[in-house]
Amino acid sequence: MELQYPQLLRQQAYINGRWCDADNGQCQVVTNPANGEALAQVAVLGAAETQRAIDAAQAALPKWQALTAKARASILRRWFELIIQHTDDLALLMTSEQGKPLAEARGEVAYAASFIEWFAEEAKRIYGDTIPGHLADKRLLVLKQAVGVTAAITPWNFPAAMITRKAAPALAAGCTMILKPAPQTPLTALALAQLAEEAGIPAGVFSVVPGDAIAIGQVLCDSPIVRKLSFTGSTAVGKQLMAQCAPTLKKLSLELGGNAPFIVFDDADLDAAVDGAIIAKYRNAGQTCVCANRLYVHDKVYQAFAEKLAAKVTALKVGAGINDGVVIGPLIDGKALEKVQSHLHDALDKGAKLLCGGQLLAGNFMTPAVLTEVTSQMKVAREETFGPIAPLFRFHDEAEVIAMANDTEFGLAAYFYANNLSRVWRVAEALEYGMVGINTGLISNEVAPFGGIKASGLGREGSKYGIEEYLELKYLCISV
Ligand code: ADP
Repeated sequence: MELQYPQLLRQQAYINGRWCDADNGQCQVVTNPANGEALAQVAVLGAAETQRAIDAAQAALPKWQALTAKARASILRRWFELIIQHTDDLALLMTSEQGKPLAEARGEVAYAASFIEWFAEEAKRIYGDTIPGHLADKRLLVLKQAVGVTAAITPWNFPAAMITRKAAPALAAGCTMILKPAPQTPLTALALAQLAEEAGIPAGVFSVVPGDAIAIGQVLCDSPIVRKLSFTGSTAVGKQLMAQCAPTLKKLSLELGGNAPFIVFDDADLDAAVDGAIIAKYRNAGQTCVCANRLYVHDKVYQAFAEKLAAKVTALKVGAGINDGVVIGPLIDGKALEKVQSHLHDALDKGAKLLCGGQLLAGNFMTPAVLTEVTSQMKVAREETFGPIAPLFRFHDEAEVIAMANDTEFGLAAYFYANNLSRVWRVAEALEYGMVGINTGLISNEVAPFGGIKASGLGREGSKYGIEEYLELKYLCISV
């Protein structure tokens, strides 16, 4: 891994504006999922260092909060520009530790940076209200103020964007933040901290604490100083963190698992639906929380859709993300591969047919698969597969498919392809999801509210709503 700017390869933690080792000197190897190669040795921090990061975030808060929004915005803008300037290095770091193809990694750098640009702009538009008084001598106002010290815990599937989607609105609002990145992908997080430092984000405003998830999580949740936790990851860990935050009544944003339906109606443009399915299903080798997990295809177009999809999927190049033309990289680790294989074999054992793919290649690679004749008794119907398998379910009518699509504890993203206008409205309104892609397989961007309902979480990220998660309302009642 040869970086143009070697300074971006950081292996120490970043606390209170300083690069530091773990108190006990412990390190953890970060490996390349494409070939198992060791990339770096990153510090493994614990409770004591996390407490220091919290104290630093508290000490930095008054000055950061007191800056004008314009001043905070211009620092964030510099961070955005530095990230864009170092796109190639950040993408290389990301592909090396996470596995996604280089073109996708570049896309993620742009996506990650866009949150910083967006919230730098939004910082200046944190408006309050004036409310007509309820009595003749009363004047009522609403101020919006920063929540205070905040914490973020992020996953490995989007090593940059899941961080900026939290840090940018937090810092824009005037909050400070302690981040615990995923153990698989700390290098991207630490490179972002390096650029944050160069952008002039003051010491203590943004600290990065890689290390022991349970110990760090416990200190962040237990601390009365930390007023908010934003978490992206599994539903099980999200529920556990919510419980851990109960004693201090923290504000919470939780972006958890999904089980996205992708519905193809008989009036859909089939070629567009196939292209949308490929994006929604196979991006990041199927390892995103908004990946299509269940594909419901109308009886009349089932065969044609399956054949067209399999033809295109067979042509997707599998390999190390660093190689030209690769669109499917490795899965993150052996455990992930095992889960995907268990979903595949469970479906095959229960009567599904494998139209293409499903082969294991040396390392953590699997060729992208399409399954037909899938039923709701199979694991792929209930659980998030998080891998490159497209299971095709058959349906006959609209009410039936809406019921099947909603029959899950999750409610993050849903997709459907249809052209009849009345149907488009009916289905969009009936789907119990936080986000619905209609005739598109790609819905994420910084200007729209990202988030789910039911077991998929709480709160929204991105958009004008994203910054509200880091603001408290204060009502003033003035007697005149
Ligand atoms: P995944 O299965 O995608 O790794 P997790 O929910 O296990 O999802 O992990 C998401 C993030 O949560 C990672 O940064 C991980 O280290 C962290 N994490 C996992 N368990 C805990 C915990 N008990 N307390 C705090 N953080 C945790």
